[in-house]
Amino acid sequence: MDKQLSREIKGSCLCGQVRWTLKGPFESFHLCHCSRCRKGTGSAYAANIFTRPENITWLSGEELIKRFDLPQAKRFSKCFCSHCGSTVPYVSRTGQYLLIPAGSLDEDPGIRPQDHIFWADRACWYDQGSESEKFDAYPK
Ligand SMILES: [Zn+2]
Ligand SMILES: [Zn+2]
Repeated sequence: MDKQLSREIKGSCLCGQVRWTLKGPFESFHLCHCSRCRKGTGSAYAANIFTRPENITWLSGEELIKRFDLPQAKRFSKCFCSHCGSTVPYVSRTGQYLLIPAGSLDEDPGIRPQDHIFWADRACWYDQGSESEKFDAYPK
């Protein structure tokens, strides 16, 4: 696993107004199935890569980013582009980590997911969904 990136990689939101570059090393990569991550993403799980806060350089659109810290949670936050709603990287509430939504990256980060966390909380449709038939585009 290539955790030591020798180059910078780019990321952006869906509308393209928020853009950034990242450098490694990336420390971990978790797929989180907890109910908060399912709600926050609207999907089966959140795919988060962790690195140090100083490893990001914002290129544009930083003023469009909105932050939501879930009041009843100790750790859960999400940051998103206020124009298109895409999740974007953010610094953890402890200030210790930068969390990068892996789907926001425009290039291969090198690192691969190491585990599924909060596995017991996964969506009841997840197992069947991951085993179902695959198409490269819309099915005919
Ligand atoms: Zn956007
Ligand atoms: Zn989670």
